[in-house]
Amino acid sequence: MTRAYNFSAGPATLPEPVLRQAQAELLDWNGVGASIVEISHRSAEFIAVASRAEADLRKLIGIPEDYAVLFLSGGATTQQALLALNFAAPGQVVDYVVTGHWGKTAIRQVKPYVTVHVAADGEPGGFRDIPPRAGWQLSPDAAYVHITANETIHGVEFRDTPDVGTAPLFADFSSSIASEPLDVSRYGVIYAGAQKNLGPVGVAVVIIRRDLLERSGQPRADIFDYRSHAARDSMLNTPPTWNWYLAGLVFQWMLAEGGVEEFARRNALKSQLVYQAIDGSGGFYRNHVAPAVRSRMNIPFFLPDETLTARFVSESKDAGLLALKGHKAVGGIRASLYNALPVEGAQALVAFMRDFQQRNG
Ligand code: PMP
Repeated sequence: MTRAYNFSAGPATLPEPVLRQAQAELLDWNGVGASIVEISHRSAEFIAVASRAEADLRKLIGIPEDYAVLFLSGGATTQQALLALNFAAPGQVVDYVVTGHWGKTAIRQVKPYVTVHVAADGEPGGFRDIPPRAGWQLSPDAAYVHITANETIHGVEFRDTPDVGTAPLFADFSSSIASEPLDVSRYGVIYAGAQKNLGPVGVAVVIIRRDLLERSGQPRADIFDYRSHAARDSMLNTPPTWNWYLAGLVFQWMLAEGGVEEFARRNALKSQLVYQAIDGSGGFYRNHVAPAVRSRMNIPFFLPDETLTARFVSESKDAGLLALKGHKAVGGIRASLYNALPVEGAQALVAFMRDFQQRNG
């Protein structure tokens, strides 16, 4: 069996050693006579798995003690809605900086509950750059300021944490969490669906500065209340145990590989290889994002026409390079280079790109 290089934007490639370990443990986890997904989430065995995953994630990302870490179902989109319910009063102003598709989604999720103020919007510029911080129109009384750290579809990434004054900064890190060192203390809330850098789809990680949990927010059911989830260690109801376990194996793997510093190094190398291939192609391949904010995780690029794009997608698949078709919102090609994609995957893509251009350029 040979595994292809998988450039999927999410659910995305997982580290092979993690898949092998999960496979080996699937029928009988650690001698209990059952799989980890067949036993109670309240069993001592699962609680050990869950706590280790949290401890490993804290170590990996450097999450201070005064932050709660939650493992929740519902994906990143659900968290986008819960932000308003938990941290803003009904109708209160919240500031959103929109740098791509997912920033717009985040706004849609909170519109029923709060007054959304778009503090800066990259859409008039085609989401090719991040509006300069100096031009952001922040509200004096915003409950929070929301950014999307890495825009998975448009390939635009914050390279620095913006200073937003007194309102806490909330960030969607779905497609770049654990891809490089991060100063968590600059943020009020960090959230991420796991299915890109952290593990399988079905669990989201939410990192919350604990004092924010004191905010009354809006009338909401217990199950939508981060405070209740934090008080019960994310076991208010049955958590997604398989996903949590598998994410825990990914955290162990990332720590063993050298942690976020090492992944930052590999991600810089992989993305440089691909951007150099694009920029050095004499215009055959094009990426429109301003170099200073080009994403190291998701690289959208375009060929001269639709016929060549379709041929590129089909021939790359035959060459063992999976899921390079661009998102339907922008078309073209997209290469996602998450932590679990090895450097050899980026090298294979670049070799394919050069060969394809020679044959079709
Ligand atoms: N935010 C970002 C940056 C994403 O890339 C995605 C999914 N691609 C989402 C939010 C939505 O995540 P989910 O499907 O887990 O709700």
